[in-house]
Amino acid sequence: MEPGGGLVKSSEQPIAAPTTFLGALDGYGVYAIDLHDTSEEGDLEPVNLRKLYGRIPDEEWVVCGRAEQIVNYDRTHVYCGRCATPTNTNAHDRGKVCPSCKHMAFPRLSPAMIVLVEREDEVLLAWGRQFPGRFFSTLAGFVEPGESLEQAVEREVMEEVGLSVSDIKYFGSQPWPFPHSLMCGFHCTYSGGEILIQEEEIVEAGWFKATDLPPCPVGGMSIAGWLIKDWLDRQKIS
Ligand SMILES: [Zn+2]
Repeated sequence: MEPGGGLVKSSEQPIAAPTTFLGALDGYGVYAIDLHDTSEEGDLEPVNLRKLYGRIPDEEWVVCGRAEQIVNYDRTHVYCGRCATPTNTNAHDRGKVCPSCKHMAFPRLSPAMIVLVEREDEVLLAWGRQFPGRFFSTLAGFVEPGESLEQAVEREVMEEVGLSVSDIKYFGSQPWPFPHSLMCGFHCTYSGGEILIQEEEIVEAGWFKATDLPPCPVGGMSIAGWLIKDWLDRQKIS
């Protein structure tokens, strides 16, 4: 990528497609180029964002996720969602304003919580229906309007496995561009109830010891894997 220039073809002609400035990385300007409606791909190879993980540095993968979300936002907010007038983009931020009714839109972010529930030397993991095979992970769900992240943790754990939890502590967060989540990670402690799974979402859930984990992510690309790795590391200390 050229400083301040974005991708160029071998002919050094700029690609004729909508281009959006994303920010700077290592002193270089980084741009997203929307190739959806062009035939400008040339010999570029389209790569699925998930499959790109591990093939480029993590920091660049996050930038690709940002690019995907902002390009998608630009493509889906060409017209006002209220009155269908073509929108204008603010010069000072990414807001889009309707010149007719003044309705405003900003890039869409959907906060979600993801939580690792602990009970003494065991961890709660669930096999979600979204996994094609028998594969377990931490519980996760979208935050509802009017709800705090901690309330979302309590509600989702109760809804998905019927358990009460306490001692909810923030762990970290991860932008998750599939399609526009912000995953907010927590750990917490079991405080009551028996596992009762929500069958529409969960195939199986259970308590597992560090020595007897089912197939699950440990480290890797997702915050679920980071939460489980953090828990495993703490089991070795005690
Ligand atoms: Zn409007």
